[in-house]
Amino acid sequence: MDISNLKRRGLMYVLSSPSGAGKTTIARQLIKQNKSLTVSISMTTRPQREGEVHGQDYYFVDIPTFNKMIENEEILEYAKVFDNYYGTPRQPVEDSLSQGKDVIFDIDWQGTQQLSELAPNDLVTVFILPPSHEELEKRLRNRAKETKETEDQIFARMTKAASEISHYSEYNYVIINKDIETSVIKAQTILDAERMKRHRLTGTSTFVRGLMEGL
Ligand code: 5GP
Repeated sequence: MDISNLKRRGLMYVLSSPSGAGKTTIARQLIKQNKSLTVSISMTTRPQREGEVHGQDYYFVDIPTFNKMIENEEILEYAKVFDNYYGTPRQPVEDSLSQGKDVIFDIDWQGTQQLSELAPNDLVTVFILPPSHEELEKRLRNRAKETKETEDQIFARMTKAASEISHYSEYNYVIINKDIETSVIKAQTILDAERMKRHRLTGTSTFVRGLMEGL
């Protein structure tokens, strides 16, 4: 009996939240702890912020390049957020999934809806909520200091946060991010359980037949 024949399809693990709810920190920690988890690096037409690295945080492209990729069907899903376009390049995701690797996505509700139409069986979606309105505002204001945002931009983010939150019920799981350590454990628990879903395992029936032989 050879358990090396037991394989698993990679899953698509989506984390969404209003900005400032801690999703990026949770995603980074999960990537650190999971060798077989790769991150989908999005393309965006928004300007690069200080400290962001092309090819690591995003692929920063111009609008004609983005449009060309849509035309060539090289983008799995895309959305307009804050007047800028964001999209998921198709090839790296398909490559990872076919190698049995899981892929984590930091995308908004519009992208999540598109992925759930494309690949409902491979998708696991988690919505991260902030613990309170005050905490969300505090986090947004702290971030605004780093990115030197204006009061108008902060207001736009708060409005956007409210509209993002209104989509929480379209997700499989919800994590209220009171403290980051606990939230990472919760996100890891979801990932671990989803990896054991029977429909993701291939080769199990041969394995089980072997187990029962001679019983
Ligand atoms: P930011 O500009 O702050 O990095 O991101 C703004 C929003 O765009 C976040 O809510 C983020 O989840 C979303 N986003 C980033 N990349 C993608 C993507 O490839 N597709 C979609 N649909 N949303 C994205």
